Amino acid sequence: DATQLPDGLQLYQQGSDVAHQRQITLIRDLRHAPQTGGLSLLFQPKIDLQQGRVYQAEALLRWHHPQHGAISPGEFIPLAERTGSIQLLTAWVVEAAIRQLHQWNGRGLHLEISLNISAEDLVSQTLEDQVAELLGRYAIKGEQLVFEITESAIMRDPERALAMLHRLRGLGIRLSVDDFGTGYSSLAQLRRMPVQELKIDQSFIRELGEARGDAVIVRSTIDMSHALGLKVVAEGVEHDETRDLLHAWGCDTLQGYLYSRPLPPEAFEAWVAQPPV
Ligand code: C2E
Ligand code: CA
Ligand code: CA
Ligand code: CA
Repeated sequence: DATQLPDGLQLYQQGSDVAHQRQITLIRDLRHAPQTGGLSLLFQPKIDLQQGRVYQAEALLRWHHPQHGAISPGEFIPLAERTGSIQLLTAWVVEAAIRQLHQWNGRGLHLEISLNISAEDLVSQTLEDQVAELLGRYAIKGEQLVFEITESAIMRDPERALAMLHRLRGLGIRLSVDDFGTGYSSLAQLRRMPVQELKIDQSFIRELGEARGDAVIVRSTIDMSHALGLKVVAEGVEHDETRDLLHAWGCDTLQGYLYSRPLPPEAFEAWVAQPPV
């Protein structure tokens, strides 16, 4: 009965009963997933083009549901965002990432982790306190973390986002604008934000070399970002030609299937030890 369920569920009423039932089950179980298990992080290498090495991994959340199996983040993240459970998931991701850094540091592996933060997290009052507590508990410096935030999440409530971003910066965490180019913000607006990095959206990167318009956008974004003192990451790098173009244009960091898919921690460690780059 939709009246007992959170907002957003009405959206699915028009769908089939099976799809509707699935949504109800997923929304209910998502809330408990941080306690009941089934969540895990995969790590995708990010390659520094200057140094030609891996220095960072993006942590990507996975959810294995006991009945429905693997659910893609493209399905469960928006559900969590609409039904108020994203903060619980983000708290789980932040702790898992910090615990992983603690393990890696202990074994002499000095890496950074970037992770994804939703619009709802930016307006919560608890994020900064939670992160500060976890950094202290695991003896990790904020400098080993990067928070990726989409431009639309920042622009939804720019004043509140700005306040939270400053508080996170105060912990030493670096901030990256994810999916850049897909929203309505401009570099001029982002200049007011305490961000250090832009990630050009994969939609501009994947066909680079084929679509002339993409090349112009990507090249000028790299140049303008550098003029503003921002680092540039390109994600969705799948082809050699794309890598070569981005290298020639001075892009700082590359991420994509050309190098590696997101990997479980052990496979990621093996990859870092022997990168086929
Ligand atoms: P995103 O943050 O833009 O992450 C990049 C997505 O592109 C990931 O998909 C990654 O596996 C995929 N990808 C990386 N390289 C390539 C490539 O070369 N080609 C192609 N086709 N895809 C590539 P994934 O893991 O399915 O995540 C999808 C989205 O779900 C993420 O997009 C992000 O918005 C969200 N997400 C994932 N984990 C989390 C999380 O912990 N918290 C939040 N709030 N969102 C998350
Ligand atoms: Ca991301
Ligand atoms: Ca992205
Ligand atoms: Ca995205």
